Amino acid sequence: MPIRLLSPDVASQIAAGEVIERPASVVKELVENALDAGAKNISISILEAGRRLIEAADDGSGIASDELALAVSRHATSKLGRAEDLFRISTLGFRGEALASIGSVSRLTLASKVARSKAGARIRVEGGSEGKVEAIGAPTGTVVRVEDLFYNVPARLKFLKKDVTERRAIDSLITRYALAYPNVRFKLAEGDKLSLQTSGDGDRRAILAALYGVEAARQLLEIHSEEEGLKLSGFISPMALTRSNRKDITFFVNGRWIQDSPLITAFVQAYHTLLMVGRYPLGAVFIEIAPEEVDVNVHPAKAEVRFREHGRVFSFVQRAVRRGLLAYAPVPTVAPALWGTRGESSQQAGLDWTIAHDDQLTVGGGQLTAEDETPSAIGSQLSTTNRVPLLRLIGQIGATYLVAEGPDGLYLVDQHAAHERVLFEKLIAQHEANKIPSQTLLTPVVVQLPPASAKSLNEQLPVLAHFGFDVEDFGSNSFRVRAMPTLFAGSDPSAALRAIVEDFEEDEAPLQNEIEKKLAARVCKRMAVKAGQTLSPEEQRALLTDLETCESPRTCPHGRPTMIHLSGEMLERQFGRRGAR
Ligand code: ADP
Ligand code: MG
Repeated sequence: MPIRLLSPDVASQIAAGEVIERPASVVKELVENALDAGAKNISISILEAGRRLIEAADDGSGIASDELALAVSRHATSKLGRAEDLFRISTLGFRGEALASIGSVSRLTLASKVARSKAGARIRVEGGSEGKVEAIGAPTGTVVRVEDLFYNVPARLKFLKKDVTERRAIDSLITRYALAYPNVRFKLAEGDKLSLQTSGDGDRRAILAALYGVEAARQLLEIHSEEEGLKLSGFISPMALTRSNRKDITFFVNGRWIQDSPLITAFVQAYHTLLMVGRYPLGAVFIEIAPEEVDVNVHPAKAEVRFREHGRVFSFVQRAVRRGLLAYAPVPTVAPALWGTRGESSQQAGLDWTIAHDDQLTVGGGQLTAEDETPSAIGSQLSTTNRVPLLRLIGQIGATYLVAEGPDGLYLVDQHAAHERVLFEKLIAQHEANKIPSQTLLTPVVVQLPPASAKSLNEQLPVLAHFGFDVEDFGSNSFRVRAMPTLFAGSDPSAALRAIVEDFEEDEAPLQNEIEKKLAARVCKRMAVKAGQTLSPEEQRALLTDLETCESPRTCPHGRPTMIHLSGEMLERQFGRRGAR
């Protein structure tokens, strides 16, 4: 279809303009145009996180020389003709506004050639005013150069975030499009530094690794589901793989990345009762639905869609994910296999209890975070005196729990949760006293991270140093760990680093002391003894002694209980020694 001006009545029905608010929004529009043009190769280069330059080159159909001027005009598009077409859009673009909007806030050069002509042509737009069309030699396809973004809109320039953040937004955008279009080769480079390159051979796992990290990508479960007029495929996390937020859930509807959607809720609900409170699944889901069933003209940045039959799509997603999940891993029983045979319990007990605790905590009153582990929410489950009395160790059961006797009855202690608490309080105390002892590793360890994580870690190296980690950037998204807090001596440095990075993946920097608390909780969780680990009697005793000195010994830093207390009175009642007379 040639590029035409939309008639005023169609133009007026289009949801308010493309919003070009940051470099990543430019990249998004250019990539979408290239995909709409059927490109098989899309190469993006940026300078200074896209402020100085964004260049997108593709080998798509190109734009005829005599249409170049139209391409950069507002409401000129080759993708939409009549008003009815608005209700069955099968291209990513349709408003005919992106190039015009970008051209009004930058210095834009559009160069293109179509297969049928010998020469190509180029047009420049500067701050909204168009130059002449000139003939140039060029291969078939299109190159768009956007220089000095917002040079004439200082207000928007002021709202841009730090380079790392803007760059990360671009990275994450390209990675997601690469995932949705695995048959297209994408390349993203900043200057001569390549940040992403895909093969275009249709393999999504490799791209998932760039998005979520190699280890997570390996664990993701592949799902497919289909029912009348609806098709879903994707990769979802098994129950054991979780995140602290929903940011790693990616949805595509008809090849369009949908960022803020009730579909994400549907996905999370599919994991209901299977994950600990405050933990979220991750994954990438691609939905295909007839274009007339979905309205894409609802959001200025086209980041949301509306379904004609919302409820049906929502429950389809929920069912497909749940079914996929259960097909790979049957739900464990909620009843704890506490006295089960040794072989099973060491594997299963941790998980079973997680679920049981999860239910209790939810009943008690919503989600708990490391900060609000006050007894209020779990008061109904546990006695409210916080400190634990002196305990006499009886022993370890199922390689997971310690049994102890106190002056007021029996205590069952979850060794992992308890150790987490102990490490957490020690680390925070050392941190507050400003002296976290650090121990040099015999041999430094090099840890490789996914590009996005590497970037966030890099920003936070000073915080890590404060925590007794000596970590340095080792190039190409890897880091060298030379020293760790003495508290974690002997533990795996790469596990510690990965744990830390999970918390830094927030775009906005939370308050520093919050970062530090979360970070401490996360690292302690990773470093604590695990369920299923046999402890020597000395280790068991040391753990109880440490717990006795804790400020808040009854919950782990994430709010799960560390212990169950069966009072003498309760035992008497259970054995019919009391009240039965
Ligand atoms: P829209 O994508 O909504 O149509 P744009 O302003 O993004 O609006 O682009 C205007 C027109 O320019 C498109 O309809 C298309 O015909 C053409 N165009 C833009 N970019 C490309 C490209 N990379 N390859 C081929 N044609 C393009
Ligand atoms: Mg477009």
